[in-house]
Amino acid sequence: MEVDTNDEYFTSYENLEIHEIMLTDTARNEAYRKAITTNSSLFNGKVVLDVGSGTGILSIFAAQAGASQVFAVEASNLAKLSQEIIKENNFENVIKVFNCRIEDFQLPESVDKVDIIISEWMGFYLLHEGMLDSVLLARDRFLKPGGLLFPDRAILYCSPCNLPTHFDNWDNVSGVKMSKYAECLRKQKSSKPEIINIDKDCLIADDIVIAFLDLSDISTTELNRIDFNEVIIARKSGKFQGLCIWFDVLFPCGDDNEEEVILSTHPQAQSTHWKQTIIPLPSNIETFEPLDPIAFKLIVQRNPENSRHYHLLLEILDAMSDDVQHPLPCECHMT
Ligand code: SAH
Repeated sequence: MEVDTNDEYFTSYENLEIHEIMLTDTARNEAYRKAITTNSSLFNGKVVLDVGSGTGILSIFAAQAGASQVFAVEASNLAKLSQEIIKENNFENVIKVFNCRIEDFQLPESVDKVDIIISEWMGFYLLHEGMLDSVLLARDRFLKPGGLLFPDRAILYCSPCNLPTHFDNWDNVSGVKMSKYAECLRKQKSSKPEIINIDKDCLIADDIVIAFLDLSDISTTELNRIDFNEVIIARKSGKFQGLCIWFDVLFPCGDDNEEEVILSTHPQAQSTHWKQTIIPLPSNIETFEPLDPIAFKLIVQRNPENSRHYHLLLEILDAMSDDVQHPLPCECHMT
């Protein structure tokens, strides 16, 4: 096993509690398990690369699905523990662990390219942590032409929402009016996106696609900036108090009879550790009624000083005149 130097990002993954959060996320685990093990026709006898293998759980799924060889590449020192986990599951003859960054990894000489890349790279609002860059690098260096990526597509969504628990329930706190406090709280909260589970009934428009990423041909430069600027239609009445952002990832399917596996972080789906990302607005925008137009601009832009972080910039526009009503720069600092 080769050893590589770790930076802050990788040392954060040495904390076993981070892996506990992922390993107890049943919706996440089951989506990967189902996508991999019900597609054994795709994995049988194939060479697989696991980018950021952590505890080795995805590599073990691939071995269970019949992969002949799995290269598990993990930059943090969790790689050492994963070797024991792999042994505990009797796959030490199939899975080989490499303790290095994928950027420094080389396939053994006997292997030219891999058939399949598996990876769980998603961060909050899909792109936080910037790990997709490493998966795309692995794709370009190590994947056979026509090879498969698990997942192979990602969709980023948003919808205006109301946030009653944040902003509407402060008139009576044990008999005391707290509206002044609520106003200040709102200002404070609107400077920072929040990771929370919101009720699906709080969404006031349909699911809006901000970006569709086809991972088989997207480039890292396309991940530097995503722009959304459109007028949408309210579907139900409600106050526009925030923007809710979430994502789905989709997996390849080898068998026409099998249902496509989608790991969704929609408020209606089984809850995941990604929850939803909310950008609260600093003040109430008007209450919308069904079919009212809602205009806004959202820019998801990579932070030039830290490529693992993004700025989320939201501007509410006047649907009729295109004037900016609420410029609201929000920078995301979640680590
Ligand atoms: N595959 C595991 C862990 C996912 S978390 C699971 O599904 O449970 C992402 C993991 O990728 C972390 O352990 C992190 O240390 C690792 N990682 C992130 N970027 C990497 C890179 N460039 N090279 C190698 N490992 C990386």
